[in-house]
Amino acid sequence: MMGNKLDCCACTATQSMVPTRIPKFTAILSFMGLIIVILSVIGFVIAVVDAYIGAAMEFDEALVIGSCSLAGGVVGWLLCTKKKVYLCRTCGCTIKRA
Ligand SMILES: [Zn+2]
Repeated sequence: MMGNKLDCCACTATQSMVPTRIPKFTAILSFMGLIIVILSVIGFVIAVVDAYIGAAMEFDEALVIGSCSLAGGVVGWLLCTKKKVYLCRTCGCTIKRA
């Protein structure tokens, strides 16, 4: 955490804005993203294990499921990402930071 604080542009409180990270998407989307990531990891593990032992699926079936899980995992992870902002501790106003 950096020490640079800003004066809030909304409520004009002095030095009230602190650098922080907040979810890029709404709580529901972030939660869904987390679920998707977990399911994708499970799907990917099952596909990899199955590709090795050749239990229930053909190898190319396992490959497809593994790829889909990977793609789904990326989407889910994107939904969970956070953005850097300055957050006002007085009024809750946020502004973007690089
Ligand atoms: Zn404020």
